[in-house]
Amino acid sequence: MNNLDKLIALFEKFPGVGARQAKRFAFHILTMQDADSAELSRLIAEIKGTVVECASCHRFFATAYNETICSLCSSSQRTHTKLLIVSQDSDIQAIERAGVYDGLYFVFGGTVPLLNSGENKKLRGGALKATIETRIPEGLNEVTIGFSVNPDGENTARFVESIIGEILKEKGIVISYLGRGLSTGSELEYADAETIKNAFKNRSASE
Ligand SMILES: [Zn+2]
Repeated sequence: MNNLDKLIALFEKFPGVGARQAKRFAFHILTMQDADSAELSRLIAEIKGTVVECASCHRFFATAYNETICSLCSSSQRTHTKLLIVSQDSDIQAIERAGVYDGLYFVFGGTVPLLNSGENKKLRGGALKATIETRIPEGLNEVTIGFSVNPDGENTARFVESIIGEILKEKGIVISYLGRGLSTGSELEYADAETIKNAFKNRSASE
């Protein structure tokens, strides 16, 4: 495989990128200004050392002084007794933009597709359970599941319940669902601030 084919093959692994688009990306790089392509390769080479995964919520953040905990998790302005479980980093960005939530997050790392029984290795089931067990003695009293309103989101919510439902029930902590305040088919990531505000207002407890 020559370098161009290797580059195309790597772009094809990007989420939502097909063979044709991967080819367009690779050829686009060949037509870029030298300064831009140099900057692109520098950023790719350095990003893993400068952007790290938060040890607490698991979102990615830019670290300046080798911190292991992100600014949201270490902020005293946030309510540390609330936990909102989301699928991916971009969901946090959408919710933060809406400015209606002041608790902490947990990034679950993806969804459990309804039609695929094989477990996604990126999902953080074990880490979520450990987080809940640590937070309960620290006063955790509100857990919200914030997945998109589609079959995969619902399926993932059931999977999360199977991991933490029992522990929370024992402590009398109710799980509420953000998704039930969104309309069917909504992707949290693309929801506007007003929709997210309503989702928080209308979120409902488990039945
Ligand atoms: Zn964090």
